[in-house]
Amino acid sequence: MSFSVESFKKQFPLFAQPENRALVYLDNAATTQKPACVIDAIADFYRHSNANTHRSSHRLARRATEMVEQVRARAAVFLGATTPKEIVFTRGATEGLNLLAYCLCSQLQPGDQVLLTTAEHHANLVPWQMMAERFRLEICYVPDQRGVPQFDRLAEVLTPRTKIVSLTAGSNALGFRTELDAVRAVLAGKNIHWIVDGSQLAAHEPVDVQTIGCDFFVCSAHKFYGPTGVGLLYGRESLLRAMPPWQGGGEMIADVDLFSSHYADLPHKFEAGTSSLAAIAGLGACLEFLDAQDRAGMARHEQQLLHFLHDRLSQIPELNLLSAADNNLGIVAFTHPRSAAIDLMQWLDGRDIAVRVGHHCAQPLVRASGHSATLRASVAAYNTRSDVEKLVAAVEEFFLHLG
Ligand code: PLP
Repeated sequence: MSFSVESFKKQFPLFAQPENRALVYLDNAATTQKPACVIDAIADFYRHSNANTHRSSHRLARRATEMVEQVRARAAVFLGATTPKEIVFTRGATEGLNLLAYCLCSQLQPGDQVLLTTAEHHANLVPWQMMAERFRLEICYVPDQRGVPQFDRLAEVLTPRTKIVSLTAGSNALGFRTELDAVRAVLAGKNIHWIVDGSQLAAHEPVDVQTIGCDFFVCSAHKFYGPTGVGLLYGRESLLRAMPPWQGGGEMIADVDLFSSHYADLPHKFEAGTSSLAAIAGLGACLEFLDAQDRAGMARHEQQLLHFLHDRLSQIPELNLLSAADNNLGIVAFTHPRSAAIDLMQWLDGRDIAVRVGHHCAQPLVRASGHSATLRASVAAYNTRSDVEKLVAAVEEFFLHLG
């Protein structure tokens, strides 16, 4: 198996549409495009198997249930879980983090601490802030330098009251990776729940939660070529068992009385109501698709593009590169002192180059870097050197035009 960007890209129908033939899509950290097999699996589910998942029901319902459990088993292998019971389907990483914040914080004592980093996506900040207010907890941060966490100082801020450490595996605004090995070494043997937000990581390399050593891991399928509306939450079985459910409703119960209920076994205890069944079918196809790719080749290709992009942008006079090429999950962030980021984004959009502008839902980090908005170009395995050349040429042209 070897990686060819041309054959990889051909599997993504969006790029073959006449209106998208010239598109340069560099907004992959927000969401990736979908291969035909994922789109087909969603349509096939509705065309051939659509039914709600009620075990021991009619033929179609049994088929839908079987599909969901097969995808769960596949997802367990994808993340390195020890059993499918450790995989909860969510709507995405945001829902996974809200679930964890709700379930874990409700078991803490006032004054207990939740440790985060200043580089988190709002999805890993706001749910903790909400729960801290409700349960009178304290939010603390890993020391940082202009928003970039200093993990070598992690031990300094741990106290006997630190009960949860929740951090991203990589910044969605600047691309830098978290030194997960260093975090694991510091947290080892401590009675602290460690959550990893793998939203950006899962798109770029195989994940193994056993190697990471975390207690919980969340990600969204749409960031790694899967559908929107579905995500994965991994949790150690013993910890998931000890957690209360968060949403109540159908499917998450074993028995319901007028004044009390018994909850279903794992993982259904955390899956109240009808899941995004077609999206789960699409996720199954996505995991199969990824298994068939040369993941190491994909990662090498992305890293080459990332370095090429950094190198080319660094040659543009005055351009302020905020990201570093090394140890980066595929994200380039930049600003220019003579132009508002939004103006450059609109210029690029006018040339059919899709990049993102703003705070990237990581306002504390972007602010700490001295900006209110940056431009972000993020790569996926279907991007080419020609995409990079077009972006750089358009940026250069913009500044020529500015004079
Ligand atoms: N965490 C990180 C690091 C992200 O990049 C994102 C999305 O950009 C999220 C969480 C939230 O993901 P979703 O919107 O799919 O729930």
